[in-house]
Amino acid sequence: MLTPDWELVLGRTTELALRYLDDLPERPVFARAGWDAVHAVLDGPVPDDGTDAERVVTELAAAVDPGLTAMGSGRFFGWVIGGALPAALAADWLTAAWDQNAAMLAPTPSAMVVEDVAARWLRELLALPSHASVGFVTGCQLAHVTCLAAARDRLLAAVGWDVATDGLAGSPPLHVLVSAAAHVTVGRALRLLGIGRSAVHVVPADGQGRLSATDLERALAALPEGPTLVCAQVGNVNTGAIDPLPAVNELLVRRRARVGEDAVWLHIDGAFGLWAAASPSLRPGVAGLDAADSWATDAHKWLNVPYDSGIAICAHPDAHRRAMAAHAEYLPDAVGDGGRDAMDWTPEFSRRARGFAVYAAIRQLGRSGVAELVDRCCANARRFAERLGAVPGVTVLNEVVLNQVLVAFADPSGGDDDAHTRAVLERVLDDGTCVTTGSTWDGRACMRISVSNWSTTEADVDRSVAAILRAHRPD
Ligand SMILES: *Cc1c(COP(=O)(O)O)cnc(C)c1O
Repeated sequence: MLTPDWELVLGRTTELALRYLDDLPERPVFARAGWDAVHAVLDGPVPDDGTDAERVVTELAAAVDPGLTAMGSGRFFGWVIGGALPAALAADWLTAAWDQNAAMLAPTPSAMVVEDVAARWLRELLALPSHASVGFVTGCQLAHVTCLAAARDRLLAAVGWDVATDGLAGSPPLHVLVSAAAHVTVGRALRLLGIGRSAVHVVPADGQGRLSATDLERALAALPEGPTLVCAQVGNVNTGAIDPLPAVNELLVRRRARVGEDAVWLHIDGAFGLWAAASPSLRPGVAGLDAADSWATDAHKWLNVPYDSGIAICAHPDAHRRAMAAHAEYLPDAVGDGGRDAMDWTPEFSRRARGFAVYAAIRQLGRSGVAELVDRCCANARRFAERLGAVPGVTVLNEVVLNQVLVAFADPSGGDDDAHTRAVLERVLDDGTCVTTGSTWDGRACMRISVSNWSTTEADVDRSVAAILRAHRPD
């Protein structure tokens, strides 16, 4: 036990991983077993005695396999879930082997340098300000928490209130405006930061889920003086819609003139949509992005880095660091120009060295490869929309501006369309060719198709379209 046979256990693990990855293109995409079946195989009291490492991984892999969904498959279109690029997956394995606690610079300069380089590459790819600070977190949810903590603290500091010292009780009001179509994680981040629902002004969105600039203007005009936080979005989780950033920026220029430069903050939820900025053809559609104060995005979605990997980016490094920094006598502080302790930029203390996989993904693709990945996913989304939309009784509900497609199915036998659409979703999962997930849009049940995987081909789309149409009209 104390002298492990790495060759044996990691050799076996490589075999198991290769078998999984080799089967990935053809295994049924959705999990074949549910909670009860998997539980029945795995549950039991804590074992009294140990087991060989090789046997542990072999038996674990066999037991869990039926309950795994092939989220890395080129025909997985559920929620918004990327796959794992080979270099990113490999770097993630090494991250576990190296097992660095990537909180501080002193013991692990390599983890910190790689995060620093990856941060620079992200700013360059996404055309964000070169001075922006970056925190590597678990996902967009925690990226929101990180950015919005910096926002809250800086906005209240602008009116003389120090949240770090005095908390929120008795603080001056903070005006928070969020789109009606915002992702659920924005509200949850605000809640975690002590900003409850009743403090949030919900600004209406249009039929595509785009923040209405007219309504934002009206809402801002009705607000009293005071610090103001606006949360906008690039890439609605259902439609992929992009908020009208140039109009939002213009309104916020006026608000800044009224309440003070430092008393307005624009945060962007760009969990996947921010990656549109990495494509020269899509970049004009996200013009104005760089004028925001913070951005939250994911590497585990469109960049196809393995879970979990989110990114918080902030145009106010001082505010970012002040909101997150931690210091204790027993910890060495980062020294030297440019050096930094990652724990000062994220809500985590001990943390995984997430930069390695992000670095590897960007290095494998290069600037042109990232653009090609984003463009190809969007082209395949349009292919879905064209093929499905051409079939009588099938309606594409959204403008396909990015990688998201919403589809509703009319019941061919004249029954309830929503019930039929839900039945189509069920049958698609049972069929196993692909995975799509459901939602409601504009009061109608719909199928959501998200094309976010690096390996998806036109042939995958065509096979999936055929499966979806079989589910629509089973014979
Ligand atoms: C996925 C998503 C999130 C949440 O991201 P996580 O990485 O799951 O925390 C937030 N906003 C949008 C628009 C998303 O698509």
